[in-house]
Amino acid sequence: MTSRPTIEDLSNFWMPFTANRQFKAAPRLLVSARGMYYRASDGREVLDGCAGLWCVNAGHCRDEIVAAVKNAAESLDFAPTFQMGHPLAFEAAAKVAEIMPEGLDRIFFTNSGSEAVDTALKIALAYHRARGEGQRTRLIGRERGYHGVGFGGISVGGISSNRKTFSGALLGNVDHLPHTHNLEHNAFSKGEPAWGAHLADELERLVTLHDPSTIAAVIVEPVAGSTGVLISPQGYLKRLREICTKYGILLIFDEVITGFGRLGRATASEYFGVTPDLITLAKAMNNAAIPMGGVAASRAVHDAIVQSGMPGAIELFHGYTYSAHPAASAAAIATLDLYRREDLFARAARLAPAFERAAHALADAPHVKDVRNLGLVAGIELESREGAPGARAYEVFVKCFEAGVLIRFTGDILAFSPPLIVEEEQIARMFDTVREVLSAVR
Ligand code: PMP
Repeated sequence: MTSRPTIEDLSNFWMPFTANRQFKAAPRLLVSARGMYYRASDGREVLDGCAGLWCVNAGHCRDEIVAAVKNAAESLDFAPTFQMGHPLAFEAAAKVAEIMPEGLDRIFFTNSGSEAVDTALKIALAYHRARGEGQRTRLIGRERGYHGVGFGGISVGGISSNRKTFSGALLGNVDHLPHTHNLEHNAFSKGEPAWGAHLADELERLVTLHDPSTIAAVIVEPVAGSTGVLISPQGYLKRLREICTKYGILLIFDEVITGFGRLGRATASEYFGVTPDLITLAKAMNNAAIPMGGVAASRAVHDAIVQSGMPGAIELFHGYTYSAHPAASAAAIATLDLYRREDLFARAARLAPAFERAAHALADAPHVKDVRNLGLVAGIELESREGAPGARAYEVFVKCFEAGVLIRFTGDILAFSPPLIVEEEQIARMFDTVREVLSAVR
């Protein structure tokens, strides 16, 4: 579609997480992509400031990944992984395992981050049951956490708009830690905020309230992306780890955004030096070329489940038709090879200081209430327009797109997460454009 579409052309696709009526009245369509750029349906080039949806870390339409997908599609369109296998699945798992933290080298594949989250929660329950502690069923998430849209994910997630329509069907045995976002203490933090580690001690309170023997797992994002780039305070994750270990509770890091280089390391676990029991993955695992997600499990968790039960019996009644789909697996192998060959995680770490400077240069721009960043992710929080929360950030997003820069927004927070191949001048252009737009909106 290269000419401007009519609303009728667009009516059949019920768009996810979109104000459908608003969008269809003034659509923004992307028709092709290469490297750091999209091309819009009106022919304009658009600099990708958010790696699609935090997922295209190696840049768009990379030849090696395209060739791998094409080759898989031509030679093995589909093969089951239930009681069967194909080599690409095992190779992809080995390559993911290679860059996970020590010991988290058992990989279960899914097709999305949401499925990865539900899988990790189910693995946690299965682990305790296999060890004779089937009463450990309580799951603990966090306010302002985003863990995808499965019933498990919205239950442990802490976003009221994602929960309220479905409140009758949320998992019951769930509690939430407080979020750590606090501008009174941490406004304009560079990197990990100094204040807030003590909020991890709220887990002790929940443990006392419910008794440790009832708690299966705690799930948090080391850096929450979708709720506005909320970075764990210094020492917070370490403290959560200590409390989980003390009480035999599994710790799950949701690394759907932070996995594969966003923070300048393979995982946030590696960046923060804290190893959870399970890591959820998706997005950049195969550069988003084909839907794919997964869970990296520790050997202890894996072995407790897989060694339990009778030989010959299925150990975990869980899986997806497309778990480790050949094309998705081939894309993952090619992507992980590319990350290594181009040393893209280290590149992200090298660029992080320039990215931080460019983001924080907007501290004095109109409407800006906070700037925060870590690795190649940044958030800029705006003062809300009176009576219209979210309206200002939406307008900034639209005007940036019109000016040829794609960013994201959530509420009144702008989010930035470019592909790791971004150049310094492109970083400058992203933030300069935002500054100009901020000066122009009311
Ligand atoms: N967990 C986190 C931390 C995420 O950021 C996301 C997606 N933004 C998900 C889970 C869900 O992933 P998906 O949209 O692939 O289901």
